[in-house]
Amino acid sequence: MKADELARYRKLLEDQRKELVHDIQEHGKIPTERVDAEDNDRADQANVAVDRLISNRIAASEDHLLEKVDLALSRMDAGTYGKCVLCGKEIPAARLEAKPSVSLCAPCQTSKEQR
Ligand SMILES: [Zn+2]
Repeated sequence: MKADELARYRKLLEDQRKELVHDIQEHGKIPTERVDAEDNDRADQANVAVDRLISNRIAASEDHLLEKVDLALSRMDAGTYGKCVLCGKEIPAARLEAKPSVSLCAPCQTSKEQR
């Protein structure tokens, strides 16, 4: 892969990483002002619990994506970015473009999902 292409994907990954970290911080926020309020009724407390549950789910999936982005960045440092981690073939640019954190080529991804 050419250096300018690599730099462009690195920028995409770093932007995505920043966004993810920001989102995780937002979703990780605990609405203390509602929990601490003395006149909190049961319905309100239930809402807080549900909100927190949803936030945790979102945060978990974002954590997972963040991990993928971090792995892609370390593959970049190792000089193996853009190659399928299973078969070693080049991942087509269109695929990387759509999802810069992708680590498998389409055939490997398909066979992995079918397993
Ligand atoms: Zn492959």
